[in-house]
Amino acid sequence: MTSTVQTPEILADIAASPVLGVRVHHVTMPQAVQAVRRMLAAGGAHQIVTANGVMLVRAARDEQVRRALSNAALVIADGAGVVLAARILGRPVFARVPGVELVQELCARAAIEQWRVFLLGAAPGVAADAAVVLRQQYPGLQVAGVTHGYFADESTVIEEIRQAKPDLMFVALGFPRQDLWIASHRDRLGVPVCIGVGGTLDVLAGRVRRAPRLIQQIGLEWAFRLIQEPRRWRVVISLPLLVALALKERVKERWTGKR
Ligand code: UDP
Repeated sequence: MTSTVQTPEILADIAASPVLGVRVHHVTMPQAVQAVRRMLAAGGAHQIVTANGVMLVRAARDEQVRRALSNAALVIADGAGVVLAARILGRPVFARVPGVELVQELCARAAIEQWRVFLLGAAPGVAADAAVVLRQQYPGLQVAGVTHGYFADESTVIEEIRQAKPDLMFVALGFPRQDLWIASHRDRLGVPVCIGVGGTLDVLAGRVRRAPRLIQQIGLEWAFRLIQEPRRWRVVISLPLLVALALKERVKERWTGKR
């Protein structure tokens, strides 16, 4: 069984800021890829969280989620909500690292370095289609396995992953399931790096379209996604909550002088 390597030792030079009780790391895309390389070299089992505003709101009132996020080796600012909350709190500026792009960058690197990747999650057929697209985009990419995310028997899936021996696993079971799932199984899985990636496999497989670049740049990708997938209403209702929590936290920090 692999043991978890403590983050501070291998990623000690990466700065982090607390955002509503979650330690979010200040990394650019190249630094995130570099961090993965270091995790692979160090051994052990590491969790990466691609954080958005919905996750921060949930973490603020859900101890289990907060613990899972706090124990991750790396928490990346994926969504615009994280950047907004950090701005309200007066934290140093975060570069956004969108989860979809992180997966693509890691697959590009994986094809070169011969890292084996596993795709877990999304509806039946989606992960397999995403694997086809990724292999086309990054020739030489070794996909160690794919499994959809609507499995009934968890131990069979865990065994399948263990047998496949991937270096990197992208887990697309939606939040918070994916992040809790990684947190509770990572030491059993034997996978050095597991990353919760939300709806990324749907995007890669062409089931869902990403917003045009301009919309992404002005921080409105969530609105574009909402139009495509109206069930994502939780993103919208969480926004005023996120702002309120950040303002409250800011006032508290002013009064107590504590972060
Ligand atoms: N999903 C899954 N198993 C589940 C629930 C969700 O595989 O039990 C998949 C879903 O099909 C989608 C992905 O998780 O591909 C992310 O879903 P969503 O966009 O709702 O997650 P979020 O981006 O909000 O984390």
